[in-house]
Amino acid sequence: MLRDDLVQDLDIGSIVAKYDVDRLSVATLASHSSLQIVHGAKLEGFRTAVITLRDRVWFYRQFSHLIDNFIVVDSWRDLCREDVVSKLREWYSIIVPHGSYVEYVGLSCAETIPIPIFGSRYMFSIEADQHKKMELLKNSGIPIPKIYTLNDEIDRLVIVKLPGAKGGRGYFLATSREEIIEKLNKYLKSSVIESLDQVVIQEYLIGATAYYHYFYSIILDRVEILSADIRYESDIDGVGRLPPKYVVELDLDPTFTVVGNIPLVLRESLLPKILEYGIKFVETAKKYIKSGIVGPFCLESIIDRDMNIKVFEFSGRIVAGTNLYIYGSPYSFLYWSEPMSTGRRIAREIRLAVERSSIEKVLT
Ligand code: AMP
Repeated sequence: MLRDDLVQDLDIGSIVAKYDVDRLSVATLASHSSLQIVHGAKLEGFRTAVITLRDRVWFYRQFSHLIDNFIVVDSWRDLCREDVVSKLREWYSIIVPHGSYVEYVGLSCAETIPIPIFGSRYMFSIEADQHKKMELLKNSGIPIPKIYTLNDEIDRLVIVKLPGAKGGRGYFLATSREEIIEKLNKYLKSSVIESLDQVVIQEYLIGATAYYHYFYSIILDRVEILSADIRYESDIDGVGRLPPKYVVELDLDPTFTVVGNIPLVLRESLLPKILEYGIKFVETAKKYIKSGIVGPFCLESIIDRDMNIKVFEFSGRIVAGTNLYIYGSPYSFLYWSEPMSTGRRIAREIRLAVERSSIEKVLT
């Protein structure tokens, strides 16, 4: 079953108890959606800090009006160094983990860093394991693609996914067990994967991709649909521009590497189902993961020609597709009637929690 008993020795409560909640800083890794996060934090009146790689400092300095403090590191893994941690504590920092957080700092540092995290740190190990992820979706009663093991007969087109947040890199399509094993053996040889059970094999769904950005507010006790996007992926989005005969001639093995995001508004008649899936996911996460979902998450889906939605992946954190909506989205405006990015929504939640003396509810 899903793990929910990690990181037991950490006593984040006592660290937070020593914080001056009127002088909190929102801290994040300078990458992914960090500009959105610090922008939102500033709008909500917080101080901000970024941990940045040395060769990117010059870039983030262009946004010094949004960033009060910089910590310069040579490797993301330095986040857990004692001097970095003590600086962050000195500034009463709350770390906002984004989609690249675990990939950059590694699971162990991500989970055990003795700094309060906005959201559930218990989610990180689930997200690092493709099988546990799909199990959580399935347990939520959300339709998912058919999942195959390496022992199964492959009876249709499948997509084979490697572990971790690879951004679609290295995924491949296949139609037989032999083809999958042959390709995976190459990955094993080049140490891209450590074992064959690390991969997930899913039915390849035909339809339109759609990614929904939600926010679960513990403080307001509601799930909000903040926005939606489509990923722009190389090569698969380029293949569609070629006449079929050239696709066949090239015998191309397309990748799904994300290169950007495209905004999306949905048919309004789809919204009830999308919100229902978001709520189901939040309710199930509460049962299986300590602290459940807190704040932003994303369900990634294919909508077929009959408007059926199947979810093939999720993220338990802020996704880069939300960068489209730093000024807010059509949906976030419906809830807030003011520009409300996901980054700002995170800071608003922290502010609401402080005002209601409930900060411990949004931190782990
Ligand atoms: P992921 O890393 O799981 O978000 O997948 C990267 C991309 O692969 C997605 O944005 C889709 O274009 C594609 N993809 C992943 N899973 C499926 C699936 N089961 N059916 C069709 N396309 C998929």
